[in-house]
Amino acid sequence: AADMALYAAKDQGRDTIRLYDHEIGQRAYSRARLIRDLAEARESGQLRLDYQPVFDARTGEVQCAEALLRWHHPQRGLMAPLSFISLAEETGLIVPIGAWVLRQACSDAMGWPQPLKVAVNLSAVQLHSRGLVDEVRRVLADTGLPPHRLELELTESALVHDGEAVADTLVALHRLGVSLALDDFGTGFSSLSYLQRFRFDRLKIDRSFVQPLAGTPSAASIALVRAIVGLADALGMRCTAEGIEHAEQTRLLQGLGCGALQGFLLARPMPASQVGDCRAGEMPPGADERQTAPPRP
Ligand code: C2E
Ligand code: MG
Ligand code: MG
Ligand code: MG
Repeated sequence: AADMALYAAKDQGRDTIRLYDHEIGQRAYSRARLIRDLAEARESGQLRLDYQPVFDARTGEVQCAEALLRWHHPQRGLMAPLSFISLAEETGLIVPIGAWVLRQACSDAMGWPQPLKVAVNLSAVQLHSRGLVDEVRRVLADTGLPPHRLELELTESALVHDGEAVADTLVALHRLGVSLALDDFGTGFSSLSYLQRFRFDRLKIDRSFVQPLAGTPSAASIALVRAIVGLADALGMRCTAEGIEHAEQTRLLQGLGCGALQGFLLARPMPASQVGDCRAGEMPPGADERQTAPPRP
């Protein structure tokens, strides 16, 4: 009976291994196919940019729109960036794709009313690739977009490696006249040390800090956001809060002096053609009063 059990376990083991192999094979195959598809996506016209507006917290006016990449896969349908950006990074495909994003975004922004800026997300791989600064310079020249209308968004993870090279690149980008934003601020390992080493024009407060401001926020979550806004202010940076979904968040952030607001409540990502005359869905109640009201004592 003991032998029987042993055989059974062995058999089961073998089956499990076979199944496991099969699954890995499937996954590798589907990954390889996705990579092939991604390599062709740009030329097949399957990539598209939507733009999510960013609003001035005091006037309610749209001041910027952030380019967000979408992939319309012929079989899988619409794919969100988080489902394929890392694959694009691992394979290096992010470099040509990112170059396309930059060019498309700058050329779209040329169709918007004058002061409106465009923000473009850069991946770590792009930041560390040799030709980035030249690429940005070339795209600005080709599209005619004034450099001050372009903002590049970097996440902390892009800054981790090879600090010296990154610092040089950021200085070179600043010299071109573009501005730099630190995206998803507060989620990295050493957010504060990056502020010491690199100069940014804007902090984007991560959604995870904005989320708890809905409903009945704890004193701690308010204090944290107040501190981040103060930090930005002290270092001469502007501040955007991302991921606003509730009116209370808007009011609180306005009260804390956060200068710019972005989130589904105010506007969802939209086609480039709609950015020029978009209105905030539920803009800063009181934003207009504040402008005309006498200063508070
Ligand atoms: P991100 O740069 O932090 O962009 C904000 C993301 O949050 C977008 O998701 C946006 O649709 C979403 N979002 C905005 N407001 C709200 C809100 O009120 N609630 C919630 N739940 N979400 C909100 P998306 O488009 O899926 O992009 C995800 C990330 O993918 C981006 O995060 C960015 O890191 C990356 N990404 C997008 N486009 C590009 C690109 O062209 N190049 C690179 N390298 N990365 C990109
Ligand atoms: Mg971003
Ligand atoms: Mg962000
Ligand atoms: Mg984010």
